[in-house]
Amino acid sequence: MCVVLPAHVLVNLKKRTSHKDKKLCLECGYIGRVGVVSVEHSHIKAFFTGLLFFIIATISGVYGWFISPFLFFLFWGVGAWLFSKTTLECPNCNHNFLMR
Ligand SMILES: [Zn+2]
Repeated sequence: MCVVLPAHVLVNLKKRTSHKDKKLCLECGYIGRVGVVSVEHSHIKAFFTGLLFFIIATISGVYGWFISPFLFFLFWGVGAWLFSKTTLECPNCNHNFLMR
């Protein structure tokens, strides 16, 4: 099935360098590709997520001192992903909304 999007939707999608697929705009009912306006990371929450798992791994002794620092950075990365907020823009009605 071939779907041709309206011209104003294509123009608005071209404004953004990054996109997300299969999103629903609750303002106008548009379903499909939307533009990414910005991505914000909470570095403090991500850092403490990594630190928490580092302490748990170190205290439990499951992974030892050698592996635990790698877990710290791994969970820091997981925390950065978990606590990021992405602002999306509907290409149909230009409404901005948050995606967690
Ligand atoms: Zn919309």
